[in-house]
Amino acid sequence: MKIAEVIVDITNSQVDKIFDYEAPDWAKVGMRVYVPFGNRTIHGFIINIKDDTNIAKSKLKKIADFVEDYVVIKEELIDLMYFMVKKYHLRYADCLRLFIPSEMRSEHVKPLFNTFVSLNLEKNIEEYKLKIKSNAKNQQALCEYLKHNQYYLKSELVKKFTRQTVNKLIEDKILLETKKCVYREPYFNKISNKKVEHTPLQTRAIETICAANGTYLLFGVTGSGKTEVYMSVIENVINDGKTAIMLVPEISLTPQVLANFKARFSNQVAILHSGLSAGERFDEWQRILFGEAKIVVGARSAIFAPLSNIGTIIIDEEHESSYISESNPRYNTFDIAKFRRQYNNCSLVLASATPSIESFNKAMSGEYKLIELPERINKKPLPKIQIVDMINELRNGNYGMFSNALLSELNKCIKENHQAMIFINRRGYSSFMRCMECGYVAKCSDCDVSLVYHKDENRLKCHYCGKRFAALTKCPQCGSNSIRNGAVGTEQVVSKLKELYPNIKILRMDNDTTRNKNSYQKILEEFAKSTPGILVGTQMIAKGHDFKDVTLVGIIDADQSLYHSDYKSTEKTFELITQMSGRAGRDKEEGKVILQTYVPRHYAYRYIANYDYKSFFKKELNLREATKFPPFTTIIRLLFTSQFDESVREITKVCYNEIKDLKTKFVNDFVYLDVMKSPIKKIKNKIRYQILARLKNDNFNEIICKIYDICDKYQNKKVSIFVEINPQNLS
Ligand code: ADP
Ligand code: ZN
Ligand code: ZN
Repeated sequence: MKIAEVIVDITNSQVDKIFDYEAPDWAKVGMRVYVPFGNRTIHGFIINIKDDTNIAKSKLKKIADFVEDYVVIKEELIDLMYFMVKKYHLRYADCLRLFIPSEMRSEHVKPLFNTFVSLNLEKNIEEYKLKIKSNAKNQQALCEYLKHNQYYLKSELVKKFTRQTVNKLIEDKILLETKKCVYREPYFNKISNKKVEHTPLQTRAIETICAANGTYLLFGVTGSGKTEVYMSVIENVINDGKTAIMLVPEISLTPQVLANFKARFSNQVAILHSGLSAGERFDEWQRILFGEAKIVVGARSAIFAPLSNIGTIIIDEEHESSYISESNPRYNTFDIAKFRRQYNNCSLVLASATPSIESFNKAMSGEYKLIELPERINKKPLPKIQIVDMINELRNGNYGMFSNALLSELNKCIKENHQAMIFINRRGYSSFMRCMECGYVAKCSDCDVSLVYHKDENRLKCHYCGKRFAALTKCPQCGSNSIRNGAVGTEQVVSKLKELYPNIKILRMDNDTTRNKNSYQKILEEFAKSTPGILVGTQMIAKGHDFKDVTLVGIIDADQSLYHSDYKSTEKTFELITQMSGRAGRDKEEGKVILQTYVPRHYAYRYIANYDYKSFFKKELNLREATKFPPFTTIIRLLFTSQFDESVREITKVCYNEIKDLKTKFVNDFVYLDVMKSPIKKIKNKIRYQILARLKNDNFNEIICKIYDICDKYQNKKVSIFVEINPQNLS
């Protein structure tokens, strides 16, 4: 007798175990099945088949049936499941759910069948024609029409020849009706594939990547032709009979990007992103599973695509935080990519104009191989960045949101019939306090990160250590009383611009104006048509766009992201402003960037203005080392949430005590450990406490396993515990 190990499709820690069932003959690893469970029948996944079990024969239940008659989860992904369960402390069922389209589980999507008709081949066409009345012109014509091809979509024939005619011939058995499964195809703009001659730098990059199956960091400035490198690498891989995954952040997966891939690789490409209908997503996934599509282009979750024999994995804009899943199941796309790279022995390419400090550090240490594209295509210069001191503007009596420099550049841009983009640098909603006289911003005395102003308590808080400070009323640096918090919004900027330029098209793009599914695309299309025109927006407008007429980029409050309460805020600022600047001067006309700041001498701006990533990297890395932040340490947050204040406090306390014991054993590894209320004390009626720790990296794996054990021991029905590693957001 064969025994199947089954994970039932319920995400509940109590039943997230491997169950043994008697396996029917047809059972295969990776199939979805119906299994009896308690007094119900539910879905499960077969993850192993073996010969023996410890369960008594009399107690062993049998798998009832299959859900699909084919394997939906390939062996590689089952190995990946074990890897993820261990590494991130996830439930089996949560991992497995990532590997199939969610629509499949609800059983709402089904393969799409269409009705086709063809000529009945029992007799030849002349005999049929004789049978049809000679005055039935339509029937004669249909018969003749079908001579040329085997199958026609019935609905199309109906349009051409009327339903009556088609049905009559089916009735007379001249035509046969068949149902066939068809794939729903996502819509694409059709463009033709443009062949370009590679620059020597592109050629070198492509050859290096194709030469060995390593991990590469492709560091190429904006407009350096990285996309062409990706496509050629993929072309080589396909010619070798292998497959490829290309990841792009959701926000950059524009129709333009997809159309480019489709033009080059036609129906060998499958796309996976949130804009597809359930049916389209299911069909694209099936085409991948059955080997019909060999290239997958998609957002983060496309890393789980059921490809076999992968030849390359490419991650574009690798610095984007969206590659890290912060909600359950939590995972980091790079870990998954590295796993699949090893499993398939293929190349992995991380690419960016502004690599994350962590990735560049790995390139410096030799863990990744660095490939550089330091020039724009055709050696076009990067736009000149002019830094404008807003405190100086105040002193000169300009209290508006636009500096004189920005206003005069805007006038010029519009007079010349060009386009401008105005970027409001806002990340999240947290606010800081700033002196309007000298630019001073309150920071934590221990952590050197900006403090967050909490309006409800009228206090400043550090999100890394929990320390609280009185809200500023007077600047400790210059004594001024003009302290402000909060930021300029897109709406304010747009209405000011409309006053200044009543006859110019001014568009706005932010969370509010892009709620509807297609509005993002519509705004971009409208902007493309508007010369002169101005697009005002948040970081949504910063990345990837390729508008030929944009000659001016204005950055309204560059400092906003600098004072996000986050050890990565300087890095993020560098990234955002560099990407935003990259939108200007992409075609014939030269571009210009006006960067408005209250701290013009901040080191980040000095490096940004010179496009000097490497010096910025060195400086930033030194700071991280001195302040003991990643990549030199790892931040762990244990988040305790519950409706019951007493229970959550109690559990938090026991866990904290156990971790304190752990700290005495690993004294040198803990850089920081404390327990506190979370900065946001309550979300959806659940009270939140947290334990924060920073650990050196050497014994991290050992310690985190022990921490997971502690969580397992104390987690219960009333209190849930989340472990976050290097969380992006500590609210
Ligand atoms: P990046 O992704 O590095 O910002 P892109 O891949 O968008 O840059 O390339 C910028 C522009 O240069 C695109 O319009 C692209 O079609 C064009 N391009 C890329 N490679 C070449 C080449 N070898 N010759 C001419 N044009 C090229
Ligand atoms: Zn001051
Ligand atoms: Zn602090």
